[in-house]
Amino acid sequence: NQGIGSWPARRARMTPDRVALSYQGRDQTYRDLRERTYRLASALGVGRGERVAYLGVNQPGLVETFFAAGLLGAVFVPLNARLATPELRYILDDARVSALVLGEERDGAGLPGRHITAAGYAGLIASGSPEPIDEPVGQDDPCLIMYTSGTTGHPKGAVLTHGNLIWNTFNLLVDVPLAHDEVTLVSAPLFHIAALAQTLIPTVLKGGRVILEPSFDVDRTFELIEAERVTVMFGVPSMFGFLTRSPRWAGADLSSLRHLLCGGAPVPEPLIRIYQDRGLTFLQGYGMTETAPGALFLGAEHSIAKAGSAGVPCFFSDVRLVAFGGAPALPGEPGEVYVQGPNVMPGYWQRPEESAKVLSPDGWFRSGDIGVADEDGYVRISDRLNDVIISGGENVYPAEVESVLFGHPAVAECAVIGVPDDRWGEVGKALVVLRPEVGAEADELLKHLDGRLARFKIPKYLQFVPELPKNAAGKLLKAPLRKLYGG
Ligand code: AMP
Ligand code: MG
Repeated sequence: NQGIGSWPARRARMTPDRVALSYQGRDQTYRDLRERTYRLASALGVGRGERVAYLGVNQPGLVETFFAAGLLGAVFVPLNARLATPELRYILDDARVSALVLGEERDGAGLPGRHITAAGYAGLIASGSPEPIDEPVGQDDPCLIMYTSGTTGHPKGAVLTHGNLIWNTFNLLVDVPLAHDEVTLVSAPLFHIAALAQTLIPTVLKGGRVILEPSFDVDRTFELIEAERVTVMFGVPSMFGFLTRSPRWAGADLSSLRHLLCGGAPVPEPLIRIYQDRGLTFLQGYGMTETAPGALFLGAEHSIAKAGSAGVPCFFSDVRLVAFGGAPALPGEPGEVYVQGPNVMPGYWQRPEESAKVLSPDGWFRSGDIGVADEDGYVRISDRLNDVIISGGENVYPAEVESVLFGHPAVAECAVIGVPDDRWGEVGKALVVLRPEVGAEADELLKHLDGRLARFKIPKYLQFVPELPKNAAGKLLKAPLRKLYGG
């Protein structure tokens, strides 16, 4: 097995007694992790190529299911635990999963297919065989399908191969010299690519210790950093911002931290300076689910001189900026960011047309982001072609929110835009034209969204407007809307 599913066994061969995972005061060694993934894989009842979904916050079951699926050549489908039931149902149907493993806190109500509850999971581990499993899994075999929403309103599954994730790990290790004794705090959700690929996987490769936290909590973060001497942490900018606004910030002992990885959204320069004043340098990265995720990286050496940029292409990857019209963008000129390399996905799950739109035959992936390079090739991400809103690291696609909002009988027209927010970076604002003959209060419209959409997608603001600006073809114009109502 040349895939990532073999990594607990490879690690246990070298360092069986080191702690692999710590979760709520309980440790498991690499030997334990190897045995538990063999047991789970043997009892899971899932075959090669079949999809195994996981629904839950960070906990050992998620990690074990990921590796067990990899051992079998099955495909792991991590579900965003923040999604509402109809959103989860859509993904489970689209991926046609054979089994859904539920975290301790989930009951699976309203979700299709075969469920493995927490109790059932414990039973599988107890009844499974600890004997090695050696399925022939290659680097080109799919390892996971991670759903990302789209401009069209429905999420699509980015297929990532074992090779994609392995090469991303190489890319990361070139820039971040992780040691064998890292203590990595994983509190960003593992159902997103950054926590999984930039912290969990590389730490396991090196044989470090992963502290799993079900979710991000400011006080708990300070406690763990101090008590466990955390050395590595990944966060989106809003997480790092929350830490600085805590009363514990000034007095906290942060001396153990070696590598602070920050990305997923633009990192505000004032935040970089606040950490710099404490002697802490962000390692910034730019990437996306489809590139597993690293594309650009700004290492410690240039983090101050090039603050505000997302760095240069990762070692094994290439990035080019394509100006409007297709020519290469010159330094200082904006262009769409294209990425090529062994970390780029082969395509979206069963969506050949959507895949062809973003992947050229020679393997260049169109990101939909706009970047500007300086004379030294450092790229600043300056804008986005699509109107996605990034709120606390979660992507919100206006089209998805608009289509649900439009389902309310009182809504004649609507548009959702992003507006700046101190805590979350951006939040959504809905602009609604009501049908005069029906009419509704803002509360009623927001209640309509509740339960149909994940909470982080529900606009923070809702404003009734007399009309929405459109072009001659009747297409909604978002730019003037942002000018009018984006303040
Ligand atoms: P996702 O597809 O959910 O993985 O989100 C990827 C998107 O997040 C990218 O296409 C960018 O729009 C945004 N993003 C990620 N990292 C950065 C960064 N360092 N600076 C600016 N935007 C970023
Ligand atoms: Mg995306």
